[in-house]
Amino acid sequence: PSMDSVKVAVRVRPFSQIVLALPNTEFYSEVNWDSARDNTKWKFSMREKNSGSKCVISMTSRTTTTIQDPKNPEHVKIFTFDLAYWSHSGFQKDKYGVLISAEPNSNFASQRDVFHDLGREILNNAWQGYNATLLAYGQTGSGKSYSMVGFGANKGIIPNLCEELFQAIENRETNQEYQVTFSMLEIYNEQVRDLLSRNKKSGILKVREDQQLGFYVDGLKSVPCESYAQIERLIEQGIKIRTTASTNMNASSSRSHMVITIQFKQVFLDRDLTKQSRIHLVDLAGSERQKSSGSEGDRLREGSRVNLSLTSLGNVISTLADAAMGKKVLHIPYRDSVLTKLLQSALGGNSRTTLIAAISPADICYEETLSTLRYAERAKKIRNKAVVNTWKLM
Ligand code: ADP
Ligand code: MG
Repeated sequence: PSMDSVKVAVRVRPFSQIVLALPNTEFYSEVNWDSARDNTKWKFSMREKNSGSKCVISMTSRTTTTIQDPKNPEHVKIFTFDLAYWSHSGFQKDKYGVLISAEPNSNFASQRDVFHDLGREILNNAWQGYNATLLAYGQTGSGKSYSMVGFGANKGIIPNLCEELFQAIENRETNQEYQVTFSMLEIYNEQVRDLLSRNKKSGILKVREDQQLGFYVDGLKSVPCESYAQIERLIEQGIKIRTTASTNMNASSSRSHMVITIQFKQVFLDRDLTKQSRIHLVDLAGSERQKSSGSEGDRLREGSRVNLSLTSLGNVISTLADAAMGKKVLHIPYRDSVLTKLLQSALGGNSRTTLIAAISPADICYEETLSTLRYAERAKKIRNKAVVNTWKLM
């Protein structure tokens, strides 16, 4: 098996139109109407685009991101990642509303550009029989869902990836068979909910452990798919269930993790050979520290539980990073949370892993952005052992 480090990309979004305050927190995030529409419980205050906001991020090469302390402007920190995506300025909309690079010599990264680097690589891995995982990390409103799923005509990595997968399948030879299955879940309060099941009760599922398979979600719907259109419908349906479920619980979906899993199996009929790949696409909960108001038990529980999965992910990443640096590590705390259980093989295991760190450009988000960049820096150190999943048919 080859040792691969986790590939890390950072992406900075444009200034947004208004500023939102999440209920139950002191935390302010800039978000525009696209996501305001998703969650009517958000309090918001109008603010003109750009007014008062200062951009503290710059990207001086394809790999370099710098961040400036707004209180201390000569204080600049430099981070180097595999890729730095400038999606802050230099764009225009085409007639379909798709953001495209418009200024001459603009280094603006569009949804297509990001897919081209990160999504295509995952697909290539899948064709070769490697497992692959893509994680989106960052504070609420930083652009995780935009990069992963996208909004409207600005389709994100997941729909683009699924579309190309089926296009490629259609163009392949006939002495091969392909199977694609799709599942979609969310982790909220350390509970797993099937996002493809409309049944409220049976929607909540248990995580179990199998000697061979490792951790898995018992009873999770896994839908065989024959076309991109089918997957598109499933994603839409799943996102709707995610939003409705959190609204019913008087909660925000920004505190849940969404995990999409695509199983891709190739059967080479003439060679009695099978290759299989599992692709995890994870839109993580907002990384901002939750402020516990202390007044409502539920609120407290919710805040601390979501933190558990995200905190555990951080702990696993740190431990794996230590191990990769040659430190002696006795135990990797995968079992501490639902998220780390489900991602066990994706983190330090048999998977090619990519992390996209989504950041806000604004000075008011400086602390959170810095913490996201530091998190990404630790993830960069992890080494995975990916092997091709292939076997001869009996
Ligand atoms: P998150 O999922 O991290 O909470 P979103 O993806 O919902 O954040 O992004 C917040 C808002 O910013 C959305 O309205 C989204 O359309 C917008 N946005 C985020 N990233 C970009 C980008 N790269 N280009 C244009 N708009 C973006
Ligand atoms: Mg989101």
